Amino acid sequence: MTTLITDPRPALTALDERERLFQEAVRDFATAEIAPKAAEMDREQRMDRAIVEQLFELGVMGIEIPEAQGGTGADFFTSVLVVEELSKVDPSVGVLVDVQNTLVINALRRWADDKQRARYFPRLAADTVGAYALSEAGSGSDAFALASRATRDGEDWVLNGQKLWITNGAEAGFFIVFANADPDAGYKGITAFLVEREFEGFSVGKKEDKLGIRASSTTELILEDVRVPAENVLGAVGQGYKVAIETLNEGRIGIGAQMIGLAQGALDHSVRYVQEREQFGRAIGSFQAVQFQLAEMATEIEAARLLVYNAARLKDAGEPFLVQAAMAKLYASEMAQRVASRCIDLHGGYGFTKEYPVEKLYRDAKIGTIYEGTSNMQKQTIAKVVLK
Ligand SMILES: Cc1cc2nc3c(=O)[nH]c(=O)nc-3n(C[C@H](O)[C@H](O)[C@H](O)COP(=O)(O)OP(=O)(O)OC[C@H]3O[C@@H](n4cnc5c(N)ncnc54)[C@H](O)[C@@H]3O)c2cc1C
Repeated sequence: MTTLITDPRPALTALDERERLFQEAVRDFATAEIAPKAAEMDREQRMDRAIVEQLFELGVMGIEIPEAQGGTGADFFTSVLVVEELSKVDPSVGVLVDVQNTLVINALRRWADDKQRARYFPRLAADTVGAYALSEAGSGSDAFALASRATRDGEDWVLNGQKLWITNGAEAGFFIVFANADPDAGYKGITAFLVEREFEGFSVGKKEDKLGIRASSTTELILEDVRVPAENVLGAVGQGYKVAIETLNEGRIGIGAQMIGLAQGALDHSVRYVQEREQFGRAIGSFQAVQFQLAEMATEIEAARLLVYNAARLKDAGEPFLVQAAMAKLYASEMAQRVASRCIDLHGGYGFTKEYPVEKLYRDAKIGTIYEGTSNMQKQTIAKVVLK
């Protein structure tokens, strides 16, 4: 006897009413408020303060924080939808929201105790930008080689060292900082600390002058005898490597979302352009060669979207998602580079100028293959599973 499947599973891209409304609200906001400012923010390497305030008002800075603590009380998948929508218009705003939700809040949800959540969740949901500080000048892909040190002194820990490449460094009031509390134990000495910007000895150093996502601040952090109360250890002493690995495994799904948003944004601009631009007496979009390029790009974006949504839905379902997240980030970031580059080609010479937004999206796309694990690092993760 054949068993009939009576409960067909919805498509990965099917949204429920709440997700759809949230997506629309973010789309409207991005179009009305961010789009007019994106080029100027890029030029001036500055995140508009009003936009950050509006992001809090919109409820996208505390997506997974429970409503009782001031958040939106939604899930990880919703964060992915939000980052995708924002990144269609400006991937710099996309990554600000991404770090807040998929790294900082996500780490607190998994590792913070009740007291820490009660202290920081309401602030993160209301007005405090967060940052995630793992990398240093000498430790990137080899993150556990970090040189920052934590020494116990009475009721406090004292942190010393320097962090590099920290997204949101200029805007953040709250930082998850990784330092080694027991170098003799190697990576098993790494510990995560909750650090407030006002803590004595903590300061934000130079800001990087970057190729892309220029409105997103990327800064150095300087730790000079920063006193951190022992109650601000996130997880246990020596568990920081787990905090880092697990959070980044999840966070990189958000970078995949940033990249599909970016690629979709570039394609949307191109679809408009090829219908307006005329050569040989016709819109260039009427040439089959151009149409086929659009078709290929749309297909690649959809493939990446399915990888990203699948990884996010697996995470929300409590299923294993490590390899799916690595594949999603790898494919989406490489795809975004191809698509953004081709969108410049479709704009011809104009695409090479700042007159059209695809030039910025092309520069912004480059970061996807670098942060939260380079493409090589994603391939390493995937290969381990393939070879098993
Ligand atoms: C704009 C920006 C924002 C960032 N934001 C943050 C942040 O918020 N928080 C944070 O902690 N960090 C952040 N980073 C740091 C980022 O995660 C690192 O730059 C990244 O992990 C790569 O490290 P690296 O720059 O030291 O490069 P390296 O590790 O030196 O890599 C250089 C090259 O060598 C390759 N490579 C290295 N090791 C291997 C290997 N074993 N096998 C094969 N290839 C290898 C890499 O794939 C890469 O191509 C940010 C970086 C940038 C540029």
